[in-house]
Amino acid sequence: MPSTYVSMDGALVAESDATIHVSSPALRFGAHLFEGIRGYWNSELGELFVFRLDEHLERLRQGMKVMRYERIPAVDELRTQVLDVIRANEHDTDIGIRLSAYVVGRGFIDAAGPISIMCATDATPARTVADRTTTTMVTSWQRISDHAMPARLKCAANYQNSRLGLMQARAAGYDEAIFLTPDGKVAEGAGACVFMIRNGVPSTPPTSAGILESVTRDTVMQLFAERAGHAVVERTIDRSEIYLAEELFFCGSTYEVSPIVAVDGIAIGTGEPGPVAAEVWAWYEGIIRGTDSSHPAWRTPVYGHQPV
Ligand code: PMP
Repeated sequence: MPSTYVSMDGALVAESDATIHVSSPALRFGAHLFEGIRGYWNSELGELFVFRLDEHLERLRQGMKVMRYERIPAVDELRTQVLDVIRANEHDTDIGIRLSAYVVGRGFIDAAGPISIMCATDATPARTVADRTTTTMVTSWQRISDHAMPARLKCAANYQNSRLGLMQARAAGYDEAIFLTPDGKVAEGAGACVFMIRNGVPSTPPTSAGILESVTRDTVMQLFAERAGHAVVERTIDRSEIYLAEELFFCGSTYEVSPIVAVDGIAIGTGEPGPVAAEVWAWYEGIIRGTDSSHPAWRTPVYGHQPV
């Protein structure tokens, strides 16, 4: 069994030896930004492709700017750190990549540094549509708003809001939660964006609705425009509309494309995963794994093959 390495500021460290200070602002106050990124193994090419790596790195850097980190590493430095740890772990399966930027040392709440960058990887088994199909409830916890805790930043502290809603949903017997904005409009899931198909039209809440500016959301919107010949409408979505949708699905790096078959015990459409979600998943799966050669710039090859 080979050791699992994590990268701490570029140094490869056995995962069991990777530690941070108990008095760090990252731990005490949640001064911690992170990205969840996926890599997909293409067995025909013997290559692992990281999906839209630079977009994730840019989003991390944007978060560091708003959180006033004293040092914001360049995209090249972050990319090298991510690729080095994947290679050190010699992954030849699908993987999840956890990249974190946090305030270390023994600082107080106003510390802007020192900044540390950590990257860890995990092998992740491929999942079927059945594994990803979810039931949801509309949680009574409101989505955080931009003037208090910007959901646009992938700050670990924001995920206490996600966690409250998710734990409420799980306690009530559902798989997932959907959050509403303070004015009662659909925002997003605990870790995924929401798409709705209603009267044949795909729509999704706007980025001003307390959501993360999701890489997968952007991907799905581009694929709809290219392949279905119609744009996704970004608009405010009422709670009552989602019960009346033909289809709903979550999307995100981890959730990929996850059909939502019921909300609050009300069946969505037929109550089974729908054809639009299946089609979007087929587009997405080809692109992430590189069995579909379009959008080569979205796939960073880990072991040196040319993007396909
Ligand atoms: N919303 C939230 C709250 C999330 O945590 C995530 C996962 N990062 C997403 C949406 C989806 O974002 P992405 O497609 O960039 O993974």
